[in-house]
Order: sequence, then structure tokens, then C-alpha cells
Amino acid sequence: EENIVDVIVVGAGISGLYAAYRIKQKSPELKILVLEAKDRVGGRTLTSDIITSHDGNETDRFDLGGQWVTDTQENITALLNELKLETYLQYHTGKSIAELQRHIQKYALSMPFISLLSFLESIYSVFRLESLASTVPTWNPMMTRNADYLDQRTLEDLMKPWIHNRAKPLMTAAIRTVYGCEPEQVNALFALTYAQAGGGFMRLTLTDPGCAQEKKIKGGSQQISQLLVEHIGKEQVLLNTPVQKIVQNDDGTVLVNTTDNQTTFQCRKLILAIPPSQIIPIQFEPMLPGYKREMLKHMPIGSYLKFVFIFDKAFWREDGLNGEVISDGSFAPLGLSIGPMTYLIDGTSSNGTPALIGFIGGRCASVWTSVTYEERRKGLIECLSRYFGGHKISTHLIEYVEKDWNLEPYSGGCPCHNATTGTMKDFVDGLRKPYKNIHFAGTETASQWMGYMDGAVDAGRRAASEVLVSFRDNNQLKDNEIDPYTFESQNRKYQNFRVPRSKFYYAIPIIIVTVAALSKIFFPGIFQ
Ligand code: FAD
Repeated sequence: EENIVDVIVVGAGISGLYAAYRIKQKSPELKILVLEAKDRVGGRTLTSDIITSHDGNETDRFDLGGQWVTDTQENITALLNELKLETYLQYHTGKSIAELQRHIQKYALSMPFISLLSFLESIYSVFRLESLASTVPTWNPMMTRNADYLDQRTLEDLMKPWIHNRAKPLMTAAIRTVYGCEPEQVNALFALTYAQAGGGFMRLTLTDPGCAQEKKIKGGSQQISQLLVEHIGKEQVLLNTPVQKIVQNDDGTVLVNTTDNQTTFQCRKLILAIPPSQIIPIQFEPMLPGYKREMLKHMPIGSYLKFVFIFDKAFWREDGLNGEVISDGSFAPLGLSIGPMTYLIDGTSSNGTPALIGFIGGRCASVWTSVTYEERRKGLIECLSRYFGGHKISTHLIEYVEKDWNLEPYSGGCPCHNATTGTMKDFVDGLRKPYKNIHFAGTETASQWMGYMDGAVDAGRRAASEVLVSFRDNNQLKDNEIDPYTFESQNRKYQNFRVPRSKFYYAIPIIIVTVAALSKIFFPGIFQ
């Protein structure tokens, strides 16, 4: 009896839990169950206690999964306020470090200056990517001009004509950090859609106000899910319950089987809030339509290993550094083909425990998650020693902790899924369109900040609205509640709903051409 409910949500990450929370808020009379495969909630967010003193007696909490938020992420910002969770600013005072082609350089601008040509090329590439991204209606990327052309190419193909010199290592490092994969692995139209969903490429890479790495959540991001569970009711969220089979009967009921095959749950509406790659192994009766299977089959997930180094002192701050390092992995310890470092940044906790946190991403991850824990730790320490001085690292280091998301069951990788070439025609229906009584949530189905915690909330709310509408008397509904999926697609189809960029932005290519022309006249040597 208790296994028969109105709504089942599969997946207790932020998206699924937010959908359940929203349904409970709007229609408390509906019976809801959330089924989660892991023994914990939070999905791709995970906050852990890490040792912070040399004697091992003190600990502090650090995020090993998603952590940053910013005010332009309206959904997550509103939810954090609702849950009374506070944020604090990412420390970013002082110079950053770039390690490109084995060359280490400190820089104070948004981008390193390796040589004039590489700098101009980088700015030009970012400008082109930003301009293209701004033309993508994220609700329906196939409405973009030249959508077919972009869909058939990788990001690498797209950037090739713009990059002849030394901008490539920097662009590769940035793409590895954002998508967890290589530029030659990701569909160009998908990459532009993803960037535009967050307001542009630069926004995804910076710590400035409104940008993706601006703020962190005091006490860690897993609290979002834990607090949502308290609002939904602990008994309504079943852990250790991996869903294996979903049957949609002719009478409109949905039956859900778990992997142990012992328990069957029944509902009228089901929200699937799990990552695309995790939908594939589930058996569906009837099978999901072709456009869904095809889209899901062509969505690989990125590769990230996240690491945390705890120190007894934030020595880099005293040296005028902000702790940020962007690396192309060209410095490769242990004789391996590529180095472990992709991105590093100050990870000091809200309690002031000094830390550097970072990612091993894309190609670096495939090489460096194949070695032992000790080798990885040693390789990363060699990198840190190059940036900050070996003596400082050995004197102040307390603890090293890592989380390889590629090994995490029911997540499959991190931070998010991307798409292979030639797949975007199925993108919208493949991910977001309900199939009979199954509705789809999860950050990958969002049209704003897709891939981020904010997108998880956005998608959870849309799926919740779709379900709520079906339980209500149609006459009492507002226009935008009638069918959120079609309503949103109709209304957002032709419009680009992102804020236009400042006029100065369009002066950038003129400045680049002028600087390049003047340089050619006065310093012909730099073009050799
Ligand atoms: P998930 O969190 O993946 O939740 C899905 C849930 O479904 C999981 O709990 C899973 O166990 C469960 N599940 C899967 N299969 C089944 C099944 N068969 N049966 C039952 N349950 C199942 N985002 C940001 O906004 N800012 C950041 O700084 C940031 N950095 C990141 C860094 C890392 C290292 C990682 C890993 C992610 C990062 N992200 C960041 C991304 C962010 O964490 C995710 O976008 C977000 O948490 C996704 O939420 P979700 O609910 O859509 O999916």
C-alpha cells in the first residue's frame, strides 16, 4: 500500500529533490516518494569532513563536488535564501598563474599574456565564441543560424581557423575546466548552447560578480539536498533504492522496479531526475522513443577528479597570489604523456581553513586516474612546488584528499554531460519532452545554467509544473501553467532571452586589428 503514490521522483540530487519539494509545497495532498540509488542524497554535490590540523584532531567541511554559485543564477540564489543558507566570496585577490607549454607566468588580467600574438588570438577566439553563443536560443538550439553547420563540427573544428599560434593550449585548458573534456570531443553547437545558458563563455570561467566561480556556500553545497529532504519528509526519500525498470501501463499507471527486483512501486506520474548516461541502463516498457534513446546514447559525461590540499597557512596570499592556476598539463611529472594539473584555486573554507582545491580534467584525467593515489599526490605536489615553491608546500601541507567522480556509481563522471557531433536535432525533445507519464528533470535538461546546480533547480521546477498541471482542474490554471513544456518551447522559440552585451564588446576586434597592424609596422620581429 505505502508503495502506491501519486508521484515518484527518481534521483535525490538537487533537481529531483527540488521537484519533490515544489510539488509538496504547491499540492500538499499529493503523495510523493523519492527513490535514490546511493546511500546519500546530493548526487553530484558532496560535502566531506577533512582533517585540518597536523595532529589530526581538527576537521572542517569541504565540497568535493559542485560548490560555486553566483547572483545571476536566479534559481539557486532564491533557493539558498529560502533554505537560509549563506554564501561567501571566492578569494581572488592578487595575481593568477598560467602554465602553458611548460612556461609559468603570473598575470593580473582575465587572460595570460604569453606573447602578443597568442594574446590577440585568445581574445579573438573568445570574442568569436561569445558572438556565436549569443545567437543561440538555449530553449531550442536548432533555431540558431547555421545550426546544421555547427552541429556537424566539434569545438576544435570551429576554432581551428582562428587559432594559428599559441592560443590553443590556453583554450584547451579552459575547455577542459568548463566541460571536463577536450575541444575535439564536444559538439560545437552543444558547447555554444551550454555557454549561452550561463550567459557566455567568459562568465563560466571567471570569479567576477555574476560569473560562475563567484561565491561558495557556507558549510557546503550538500546541505541544499539535506535541507530539501527535511522539507519533503525523511520517510518520503528512500536511499539505497536503485531503479532498474519502469513500466507504463495502458491504464496510465507507472510501475517502478528496483535492481533487487524485490520491490515494486506504483505511481501516476514519474519524474526521472538522473543524469542522461544513467537513463540508458534502465529498462523501459514501452521503450523510450527513438529520439530520446539516440540523444541519450550520444551524451558522454565529462571527466573530473577534484582534489583538496589543506595547509596550515595561506602562504600564496602573502606572495601576492590568488591561488588560481590554469594549466595545459604541459609539465608532466613521472614521465607521463601529460601533467595532472588542469585548474587550481584558493579553496579556503568559510571558517578560514587555508586550502587549495582543483581539478584533473579531460585528457589529464584519463592519464592521471590510471596511476596510483600516491603517484597522483606526488605529481600534483610537484606541480604545486613549481608554482609556489617546494619548501612552502612541504612546510605547510597538512592533508590531501581527492574524489574521482569517474568512479562514482550512478553519476558516471563530472561535471556534466555534453553531446557528440550531429546530435542536436534531437536535443530538446530528446532531453526535455515528457514521454506519456514520465517527465524529465536533471541539470542537463535545463535551458538556463545547464550543467550547474542552478540548472538542476530550473529543470526540477519545470518538471514539477508539468506534473502539477496534470493533477489540476484545467480551468483554474494560468496560461503558463497549461503545459510548461510546450508553453516554454512556443514562447522561447524565436527569442534570445539573454542580456545583450555592452557596445564596447564589439570594439574588441577593431582594437585587435589596430594593435596587430601597428605592431607589424613598429615591431615586425614579433610576427616571425
Ligand atoms: P545529480 O546530482 O547527478 O543527481 C542525480 C541523482 O540520481 C544522483 O543522486 C544519483 O545517485 C541518482 N540516480 C542515478 N541513477 C539512478 C537510478 N537508476 N535509480 C535511482 N537513483 C539514481 N555546479 C555548480 O553549479 N557549481 C559548481 O561549482 C560545480 N562544480 C562541480 C564540480 C564537480 C567536481 C562536480 C562533480 C560537479 C560540479 N557542478 C557544479 C555540477 C553540479 O554539481 C551538478 O550540475 C548538479 O549537482 C546536478 O544535479 P542533478 O540533480 O541534476 O543531478
